[in-house]
Amino acid sequence: AKDAGRGVHRFYADAMHDQASERKAIEDALRDALANDELQLHYQPIVDVGSEHISGFEALIRWHRKSGEVVDPVKFIPIAEESNLIVPIGDWIIRTACASIARLGPGYRIAVNVSPRQFANEKLPSAIVSAVSAAGISPDQLELEITEGIFLDESPENLAMFQKLKRTGVRLALDDFGTGYSALGYLKKAPFDKIKIDQSFVLGAADPSSMNAAIISSIVGLARALGMETTAEGVETHDDLALIRGLGCSHVQGYIYGKPVSIEAALDMLRDNCGQ
Ligand code: C2E
Ligand code: CA
Ligand code: CA
Ligand code: CA
Repeated sequence: AKDAGRGVHRFYADAMHDQASERKAIEDALRDALANDELQLHYQPIVDVGSEHISGFEALIRWHRKSGEVVDPVKFIPIAEESNLIVPIGDWIIRTACASIARLGPGYRIAVNVSPRQFANEKLPSAIVSAVSAAGISPDQLELEITEGIFLDESPENLAMFQKLKRTGVRLALDDFGTGYSALGYLKKAPFDKIKIDQSFVLGAADPSSMNAAIISSIVGLARALGMETTAEGVETHDDLALIRGLGCSHVQGYIYGKPVSIEAALDMLRDNCGQ
């Protein structure tokens, strides 16, 4: 029994070692990914519920490795975050998104995801200001999506960063709303323009047995009272779309309108959209 126990222990130790070395391998490859042009932003349309026109896009990162493999952001963003590679990658994301906004033209927005380490970096506001001015766009065409996770730390530093970002003229969206330990009090202290309702509440919301419609309805009411817009994420079906529309969300994002695509395909979508 003692031997067997040791065997199990070694099994777990090996598995942990494999995980650590895979993580290290991804980190090393990611370090070169920027220089080797392996990162791309894809753009998913965000549709205005009232007009049914595209109001903008969310930029979502993709990593095309030389091997041909496409790595999912959920697999490498956490590693970029832990290794601090998210700072140079994040700068690249912001500059690339601003250049894409210039191609979309005035009146359209692109949202980028900002991770906690990036948010904590004191150089973020100046990086944004220089990217916006280099692209020659209006700052309110850039929206920063910040996940609820940041609110776990209700520090004065975080509040100060929100104010600094707001003063650059960009828009702020609270991402994945409802999934974290959302401090409701924080919603009125931080200058958000939009709440993004997490897809876990949206997928299958039209199913009468789920409580999701009631939850979405309260989030919309809260957002309205605070003067914020709402985007329902992950809308896939016509039933869910009809429900979301009825509940008063201002914007919709999901496969029903389109998956994330290249900037060229996004520009094509806009041309079609304007012809509607
Ligand atoms: P997120 O910010 O919540 O992004 C939405 C995710 O939902 C995207 O996955 C998108 O492709 C997916 N999605 C959109 N509509 C639908 C739908 O109708 N049905 C379903 N089932 N899924 C839908 P993606 O691109 O794999 O990104 C996953 C997460 O990785 C993002 O979640 C975000 O947290 C992170 N991420 C992606 N790009 C970036 C980035 O540039 N920077 C940072 N920091 N994080 C990023
Ligand atoms: Ca997002
Ligand atoms: Ca989200
Ligand atoms: Ca998410």
